[in-house]
Amino acid sequence: MDIRALDAGFMRPYGGRLWDGDTPGLGPARLACRCLLLDHPDGLVLVDTGFGLADAADPSRIALAFRLSDRPTLDPAFAAITQIRAAGLDPQRVRHVVMTHLDFDHAGGLSDFPWAQVHVPATEARAARAQDGVKARQRWRPQQLPATMAEHDAPGPDWFGLPTLAGPPEGILLVPLPGHTPGHCGVAVRAAEGWVLHAGDAVFMHAELEAEGRAPPLALAYEAMMQSDGAQRHASARRLRELKAAHGAEVTILCTHDPRRPDSPRLRDL
Ligand SMILES: [Zn+2]
Repeated sequence: MDIRALDAGFMRPYGGRLWDGDTPGLGPARLACRCLLLDHPDGLVLVDTGFGLADAADPSRIALAFRLSDRPTLDPAFAAITQIRAAGLDPQRVRHVVMTHLDFDHAGGLSDFPWAQVHVPATEARAARAQDGVKARQRWRPQQLPATMAEHDAPGPDWFGLPTLAGPPEGILLVPLPGHTPGHCGVAVRAAEGWVLHAGDAVFMHAELEAEGRAPPLALAYEAMMQSDGAQRHASARRLRELKAAHGAEVTILCTHDPRRPDSPRLRDL
């Protein structure tokens, strides 16, 4: 499958390199909202959607606390649908959207593709609907979510020893990596050779996939603040490190917010 990466918006929290590892000083860091566009036999498939046109038109779709702390750039030019058009592709060809989870910085572009079938882990859809507590109401925004989604919880085939959920189109697997949110999954995509795993927010920085690697301190603090379950989150990060150590040559792992996307022949920019 042809796999292209795009950043559907950015977040610019203050803290510079304490956040992203390389922005000098303590001014605005630059965090990506990385998505994938797949050329699948069923049509185009989007993995996550970042921020969309409706977020730019109405920033109140995002909780005030996150507008102030994360400082998202809500620019229609960065919306996935704008970038897909700019690449000469018809957005109506996007037939499926597969979600790692439903946080506001991943689900904002869903409203731009109302004709597409949205695939989501069932546990995540339930948690987003329950709106249980202040953090839940701030991270999961009903304004961003479609009325119906394909909610998956039936087990699929194991993938490099990890369980998966069945349901997304052929060649695409939901790989549960909970802890950031209750239903958080990675999305594994079969490439021409090997696989790409969009690991969502299971870790924020690619350095965390190395045995001794750590994210910058503000990224680590944010990961802890946003976690739904710390033990699950650490177990998911450990699974990713083990996957990379054992199968790093066969699987390219990328995460949403690291401003540096991995250099891999399996990936190109949109
Ligand atoms: Zn995120």
